Formats: sequence, C-alpha cells, structure tokens
Amino acid sequence: MTGQATSTDYSDEQLAIQRVVREFGRKEVAPGAEERDRTRTFDYALYRQLGDLGLTGMIFPEEYGGTDTDTLTFCLAIQELSRVDMSLAITMWVGVIGARSIVTGGTEEQKATWLDSWILPTVRGEALSGGAITEPDAGSDTAALRTSAVRDGDEWVINGAKIFISNAGLDNCRFVMVLVRNPEGGFELIMVPEDAPGYTMGQPLRKMGLRSSDTRELFFDDCRVPAMNRLGASGEGRRSVVGSGFMLTRLYLASQALGVAQECFDLALGHAKGRSAFGRSISRFQHVQAMLVDMALEIELGRLVRDRACWLHDAGQPYAKEAAMTKLFCTEMGKRTADQAIQIFGGLGYMDETPVSRYYRDIRAATIAEGTSEIQKHIIARELGCFD
Ligand SMILES: Cc1cc2nc3c(=O)[nH]c(=O)nc-3n(C[C@H](O)[C@H](O)[C@H](O)COP(=O)(O)OP(=O)(O)OC[C@H]3O[C@@H](n4cnc5c(N)ncnc54)[C@H](O)[C@@H]3O)c2cc1C
Repeated sequence: MTGQATSTDYSDEQLAIQRVVREFGRKEVAPGAEERDRTRTFDYALYRQLGDLGLTGMIFPEEYGGTDTDTLTFCLAIQELSRVDMSLAITMWVGVIGARSIVTGGTEEQKATWLDSWILPTVRGEALSGGAITEPDAGSDTAALRTSAVRDGDEWVINGAKIFISNAGLDNCRFVMVLVRNPEGGFELIMVPEDAPGYTMGQPLRKMGLRSSDTRELFFDDCRVPAMNRLGASGEGRRSVVGSGFMLTRLYLASQALGVAQECFDLALGHAKGRSAFGRSISRFQHVQAMLVDMALEIELGRLVRDRACWLHDAGQPYAKEAAMTKLFCTEMGKRTADQAIQIFGGLGYMDETPVSRYYRDIRAATIAEGTSEIQKHIIARELGCFD
C-alpha cells in the first residue's frame, strides 16, 4: 500500500475482511439493532460472536491468539460493524484497548499475571475492559483531573470519581484503566479489577444515542489495588493516554463515522430513487441530488484522510495532525450526513422505524468523545506551528 492509499488501493485481504464483516453485520447484527437500542440492552452472545469471527483479536499479536492486523484493516472492520450498530462497534474497540495496552506496554510480570484472566478472554471476545479518564470537573482539560492514587506499602489507594465511562458496567468487563494523579502531581495509569475493594459504579446513564452501549459514573473510595497494577513508567500515565493512545482511538471513532455515513448515504439514495413526488422520483430533483453529491464527496474525502493517517501510524511516522484531522473531519461529516439522510427521508426519517433516526442520535456523540471537535482544531493548530 502507498502513502496515498485510496479505497481502490485496499489489498485483497482487506477487501475480504470488509466483506466478511459486512455479511456478518447484515445477517447477525442488523436484525436486533433497533430492539437493543429501544430496550437499552447489550447482547453478550452477539459480542462473543465477534470473538469467533476474529474481530476482537485483530490488534493482538499471534502469540496471544490474535492476527496482528494492520490499523487500516481494523478500521475497515470497525467501519463495517458501525454501518449496522454503532453501539456494538464502540463497545468492541473500547473493550480491547485495555488488554492490548498490557500486551504492548506491560512488564513480563503483568503480561503473565493477566494472561489467562484478562488478555486471552479479551482476544476471544469473552471479556472486555474500559478506560476511565473523564471526571465531573475535568473533561477536555485532562490535566485538571483530581482522582488521586497514593502508595501504601504494596498497594495503591485510589480516591475520586470518573464520569461517562464506557463498558465498565457490563458483566464481562474485567477491569478499567484509570488515569489518576499521584502525590507529586504526575499521572499514573492504574488497572482496577472489577472486584477491587472500594470500587463501585452508578446506574447506566440515559443517553440520547448509543443506547445499547454501557456508560456510567465510577467511584473510588479508598479503593485498593496491588502496586504492580500501574502500567508504564511512573508519572507517564497522561502522556501515554492523551499523548499517544487517543491518537489511535481517534482513527477508530472516525471509522465509525465513516461507516454510519456510508450507510446513511446508501439508505438515502435508495429512498430517493424509490420515493415519488410531483410525478417523478425525488432523486431527480436537483436539491436532493446536491445533498447526495455532498454526502458522497465527503465520504470519499473522509476515507482518504483516514486511510493516510492509518498508513502513517503503521509506518511509524508522526501522525498527530493527521489523526486529529481525521477525527475532526470524519465525525463532523458523519453528523452532517446523518442529518442529510433524515432530510431526504422526510417525515419518515424522523420516525424510529427508519434506522437513519438512530444513526442521527448515535453519531452525535462522535464529535464529543475522544476529544471534542474544538480540541481537535486546537491540536491541528498546534501541529501547524500556530503556538510556536
Ligand atoms: C458516549 C460517550 C462515551 C464516552 N466514553 C468515555 C470513556 O469511556 N472514558 C472516558 O474517560 N470518557 C468518556 N467520554 C467522555 C468524553 O471523553 C468527554 O465528554 C469529552 O472529552 C469532553 O469533556 P466534557 O464532557 O467534560 O466537556 P468539556 O471539556 O466541559 O467541554 C465543553 C465544551 O467546551 C469546549 N472546550 C473545552 N476546552 C476547550 C478549548 N481549550 N478550546 C475550545 N473549546 C473548548 C468543548 O469543545 C465543548 O464544546 C464519553 C463521552 C460520551 C458522550
């Protein structure tokens, strides 16, 4: 693949994986998506099937049962899953990050300790994890977070609260990676097991979209975990999460937006061709065509910027600017595209019986999570040298 990769440059393997996930999505995921959204329920058996298909193991090395797949291919899988169920797709990529962080950044002792309980079950789709950074008084401004961790002998003692945390309340969530402040003012990334004493959580938060994904407030009240549960070097927690972790997950969320946008376009085009008004199909009206043209063009542009950012990441080149551009463009584009799809569907688009209304609610979170659009603009401006 070249640095200027376009969708026509996808390898046969990438196209095959995209096709397999698309077929799985249509057959197994799509039929219950509306019901899961309406009842705000998570389907554990369906998640397990993602493991059987190999999706949850894609970003793990082969020695852990994974397939060590490149970033673009994983993004294509996320994109296809998001075409039918954005909640399931976000649960998956958030769910595998924790175990993947242990594999890439953990000590040999940590990898051995958590191999059978966390890593292998995550690869198989039997378990997952969450990442807890946001606090009631510190969202975009991650440096302001106050949850503290203090060493007491062989343990960390954690106090504080986190909010809007994905996955933590699911029955198969084994641990959360929690970003905390140490007494010196530095940041640590600490693995908190589901059964750690002093760790509790609130009821699922009621959301406008992504309703079959779990989102909660977490509480740490003299929560004790072993000293070995800190991942990475002391004081480096924020740098590893905000500095590099978010860069990659921004590509994942952008890929979700691309999937939603593509599905909205396909549904809108199909509806426009089949719906008649004033004696002709509405796809023949220029104003409707303009919406479809804008949608198609923006999806193509989004793919180009996403594909290139993936390539830069896998080539080991700097990609902070490209990751932020991808996240900003694709998520804002996804939002616009879902809006245009509703417009093309007319009154029907506003009704729950068409999936576009769910996509419109679901995609709204994408310009907020993993760093808001305004924060992405700040990062791009910084990378352009505006602050130098
Ligand atoms: C569905 C969903 C799932 C989530 N899952 C997780 C999760 O698993 N783990 C986790 O830790 N968090 C999670 N979050 C939280 C998410 O990361 C935060 O909501 C996000 O970082 C924004 O923080 P905030 O909500 O506190 O908004 P604030 O930071 O208060 O921002 C409010 C507004 O001010 C703007 N603003 C703030 N600072 C600046 C600035 N410097 N320049 C310009 N504008 C600025 C923002 O862009 C925004 O428009 C999730 C959120 C959602 C919606």
